[in-house]
Amino acid sequence: MTDRESGSGDDARSAPRYMNIATFMRAPMIDDPSDFDIALVGVPYDGAVTNRPGARHGPREVRNASSMMRSIHPTTRVNPYELRRVGDGGDVPFTRVYELEAAHKDIEAFFAGFKTAGVVTLAVGGDHSITLPILRGLTSGSPVGLIHIDAHTDTWDEFMGSRYNHGAPFRRAVEEGLIDPSRTVQIGIRGAQNSMDGWDYSEATGMRVIFMDEVTRMGVEAVAEEARRVVGDGPTYLSFDIDSLDPAFAPGTGTPEVGGLTTIESLTLLRALRGVPLMGADVVEVAPPFDPTGGTSLIAATLLYELLCLVAEVEP
Ligand code: MN
Ligand code: MN
Repeated sequence: MTDRESGSGDDARSAPRYMNIATFMRAPMIDDPSDFDIALVGVPYDGAVTNRPGARHGPREVRNASSMMRSIHPTTRVNPYELRRVGDGGDVPFTRVYELEAAHKDIEAFFAGFKTAGVVTLAVGGDHSITLPILRGLTSGSPVGLIHIDAHTDTWDEFMGSRYNHGAPFRRAVEEGLIDPSRTVQIGIRGAQNSMDGWDYSEATGMRVIFMDEVTRMGVEAVAEEARRVVGDGPTYLSFDIDSLDPAFAPGTGTPEVGGLTTIESLTLLRALRGVPLMGADVVEVAPPFDPTGGTSLIAATLLYELLCLVAEVEP
């Protein structure tokens, strides 16, 4: 397979974009991972939400919306399909999808398989609990840096008896040595809480927490510079919770918080992270039942494309 055949960019010249089975970016399905460099992977799981479910439907709707994506980036002129062989890795095959910790094991194993094959993954969730098993699958011994864009720190502790709810993945990731809190930046945090436990945990462990009012004061390009300073030159994971955007733009999510990023701010923020050594990324918490226009899925598909352009430029 040639680079160009593996990409989705030229497919629209042989068939209109609304045709055929919807894969992420109209990329080919991955049969043998050794034929690919980057896998776009669906994680249709929302068994760890603390309030409104629906993110299990995220991957299917983002696949559909991603048929709108094209190949050449409007500001960098990067064509990720010319740089890397990009495919749709399918959805995580679950063996016991209604058991939280068993589902997380399935997620970990699926992502570990891509890592073993030398394929970089971009995941689409799914609730935010999925990032914990993804990190388990992708890291090996040494903690990675983290750029976490979200309305919530997701460093809370157990909720109603579960330590693995979608508000806790990054607390667990610190405890398990998967991420380095001193190389972690959390961007866009806002919304009232009933206790300060999660915020306090993030700051006490040394994470750089940039609340939304600070984002507004600094501007997103300065925020990106701060993120670069925090994560430095080491391997870094990026996790993008769609609820970091204002629900005026992205209402299709389980835990919306007003006063968030605009769509162009979210794109500008990611574009300003060009060159950061990303070893994987995800877009999570897209809940299509709360997205009647499909606009949230379109934003998620576009963020996925932006992440694809970033990761395609990272030397393996
Ligand atoms: Mn989150
Ligand atoms: Mn959130």
